[in-house]
Amino acid sequence: MDYSSLPVFASADIVVCGGGAAGAFAAKAAADQGKDVLVVEQFGSLGGTATNGLTMPVMHTHIASNPQCSYIANLVRDKLLPLGGCDESGANFDPFLLKVVLEEICVDAGVKLLFHTFIADVIKEDGKITALVVANKAGLGLVKGKMFIDGTGDGDVCVRAGAGYTKGNPETGKNQPISLRYIVSNVDFETFGKFIEEEKKRTGIDGAASYYDGKIYVAVCATGQWTFSDLFDKAIAAGDLEFDDKAYWQGFTVTGRPNTIAFNSPEFFDETDGTDPDVLTKTQVIGKKRALRQLMFCKKYLKGFEGAYISDISAMVGIRESRNITAEYVLSAEDLLCRRKFDDMFCQSNYPVDIHGKQLNFNKEKYKDVDDGKPWYEIPFRSLVVKGIDNLFVTGRCLGAEFLAQSSLRVQQSARSSGEAAGIGAALALEEGKLPREIDGKKVREIMVSRGAQYAE
Ligand SMILES: Cc1cc2nc3c(=O)[nH]c(=O)nc-3n(C[C@H](O)[C@H](O)[C@H](O)COP(=O)(O)OP(=O)(O)OC[C@H]3O[C@@H](n4cnc5c(N)ncnc54)[C@H](O)[C@@H]3O)c2cc1C
Repeated sequence: MDYSSLPVFASADIVVCGGGAAGAFAAKAAADQGKDVLVVEQFGSLGGTATNGLTMPVMHTHIASNPQCSYIANLVRDKLLPLGGCDESGANFDPFLLKVVLEEICVDAGVKLLFHTFIADVIKEDGKITALVVANKAGLGLVKGKMFIDGTGDGDVCVRAGAGYTKGNPETGKNQPISLRYIVSNVDFETFGKFIEEEKKRTGIDGAASYYDGKIYVAVCATGQWTFSDLFDKAIAAGDLEFDDKAYWQGFTVTGRPNTIAFNSPEFFDETDGTDPDVLTKTQVIGKKRALRQLMFCKKYLKGFEGAYISDISAMVGIRESRNITAEYVLSAEDLLCRRKFDDMFCQSNYPVDIHGKQLNFNKEKYKDVDDGKPWYEIPFRSLVVKGIDNLFVTGRCLGAEFLAQSSLRVQQSARSSGEAAGIGAALALEEGKLPREIDGKKVREIMVSRGAQYAE
């Protein structure tokens, strides 16, 4: 299509496409390098899955020192703490306050924001993107830039620009399950806490249900032994729940919100393509009904939920995995499981393979764990450099990785770190007049470290 006559809505040297955790960190990092940066985001706030998707906490890296591999993560924690919006580590946070803090740090750094604007296509000339084609209340228009960072989570910009990608589990062709998270408030924690203890005694199963130090944690899965499993079975038999409600149900407290439990459910196992608008619509509509059904179950079968109500349902369908973009380096399952190290690494993690589903379908025996005394894998900078497009980086959950590797690095610590690295990489590309693939990943890491990012030794 010829878009050349469309009006120019905005422009910047670095255009960050999508303002999720990765996009927001990318924008802040590029602006800290003194660059003119714009974020284009379809919703009215930053944070994506972490905020509009009600997704917390930031998962632990499973490395002893829990390195965040990001200087911005420290800043976010320091801004959230006095607001009562996170715990000491910064891991457990209030999603609403995170939206406020992400906006503040970006705007203070000079980042321009263009909210409520959907990126529908790109204009490309000589292997480079020259503009995004966007739609918003003003109609169709262009956003021009010199360097682009795809933080859409689904690689929308990469794909429109012609980049390659894989999608889903190579053994089944299916993407990871989708969830529509919700939050329940006015739970009587004392009563629920006592009930948890009573149920542990009654069932003899001490499985993923606890009330400790003012914090609730509960979970039930289809397989395995869980304290509440038989209550779920009873509810399914009575027609109060369906099997999928039991297949993955998980809840935990939210820092700064008393008597509140955030649920990492309901989960959808069959229609899981997050790039299919019909799937997104269906999961929003059915998801709300299922969240209500689960609340009614809590009220009828558990104690402490008598006055509880749903205080939030995610505005954004929770997509764990959709397209994985073909980058200059694609992190393989073997890299992850054999804990490969890279000179140009920007992120370290030992977060496990985390493939949801009624059955875990990967063969652990295939991969040998290499013990080099450094129990973590690393993500190289090259996995952020989109293959075949000369001014495009990809960041967040759709960076260059195979399905199995993505199931680990999709969590927020690595998404944040990848955004920061991409932002600095884009700034260096402009400063040094280089193509993204010519940028020295070691230099990117050195800048991250000089600003306070921490890595395990
Ligand atoms: C249900 C669920 C539970 C999870 N639980 C945890 C957990 O407990 N801990 C943890 O650390 N991680 C968890 N994760 C993983 C983690 O939260 C996400 O992978 C991570 O936040 C993704 O960040 P991102 O910035 O890459 O992408 P996203 O958060 O998806 O951000 C993409 C952004 O781009 C915008 N966007 C997309 N397309 C367009 C477009 N075409 N035009 C304009 N804007 C666009 C979106 O609105 C969004 O703001 C979970 C994920 C899910 C789905």
